[in-house]
This record gives sequence, C-alpha cells and structure tokens, in this order.
Amino acid sequence: MTDTMTPEQRHRCMSHIRSKATKPELKVRRWLWSHGYRYRLNVKSVPGKPDIVLRPYRTAIFVNGCFWHGYGVRLEVAQIENSELKIENSACCKIPSSNREFWVAKIRRNRERDQENYRVLQENGWQVIVVWECQLTPKKIEHTMREVELLLNDNLLSLYKHHAPIHYTIEEEDAPLPMAAESNQL
Ligand SMILES: [Zn+2]
Repeated sequence: MTDTMTPEQRHRCMSHIRSKATKPELKVRRWLWSHGYRYRLNVKSVPGKPDIVLRPYRTAIFVNGCFWHGYGVRLEVAQIENSELKIENSACCKIPSSNREFWVAKIRRNRERDQENYRVLQENGWQVIVVWECQLTPKKIEHTMREVELLLNDNLLSLYKHHAPIHYTIEEEDAPLPMAAESNQL
C-alpha cells in the first residue's frame, strides 16, 4: 500500500471507510436476516456502538476488518531498530512498509479501543461476538455464521437461566393436553 495522502486526506478517507457499512458487515447482516434474526444497527444507547445489536439475545456483534483491527499481527514486539520497526505481520494484516510508525500507532489504537468497547459491554451484561473479515469468504461464511448462531442461542439460554422457574397450572377444559396415541385405542 503506497501512502501518498496528506494527513487530512488520509483522515477523510478513513472516516469515510469507517462510517459506511462495510461489505463484511453486510454479509453478516444478510445471513442473519435470511435466517430469521432481527437486529438493530449502530445503536447509540449501547456502549461502543456495535455494528449489529440483537437485543433479545443481549448480544453485540462486531464485524472487524482484518487490517484495521490488526487481526493476528504482533505489534507488541514492535521496536525501533536502526529506525526500522520490527513487526510480525499476520496472513491478513500486513503493515505497509512505508509510513510504518503511523500504521502501527493507528492499528494499536484501534485494538485498544476495541478491547475497551468489549470490556464496557461485558460489564453492562452484554455478550460480545467478534466476526473477522477473513471468516466470511464464500467457503467459510456458512461455518462461521453457524458458530455465531450457536453463540447467540447460548446467550439466550443463559439469560433464561437467571430467571426463577415460573409455575403455572392449566385448567384442562381450557387447554387439553395433547395425548399420545396408545396401541389399545387403535
Ligand atoms: Zn483475517
């Protein structure tokens, strides 16, 4: 990635990218919608403004771009050595060779903000699911989203577990219980 933009241009470019629904996020939304899940987007009342909010599941989903959120890249080993930064790139996050310090600082800040958002959500009783861009390729999306679905249902169950059991009785004439057919009734 070449870096020929002025800081102002770069800022405008990046805020543009961030504010628009990214393609990976659309993939997740489409899958959820077509499987009957209803959600809200960028809910401001929920801390960290998650991409997708499923209130009945008390779950926030973040769909993270691998580059911007530094998936798998090791920045913690970054150090200045002969004025070169040493960084361990990952398969899906490669820090550009020009302007490295800028990109490292940028991605590090994004990661710190992510962690802070997840922490605040969890402290407020929300479950957090993070889906990575590279898990949404045509080959992987079904598997990824089935796992998301499992997590969602697990979250819903854990909400019910916190409620005391509700006892109720049904008058038989109002709502007869279904009877299993027995062989001697045939
Ligand atoms: Zn990735």
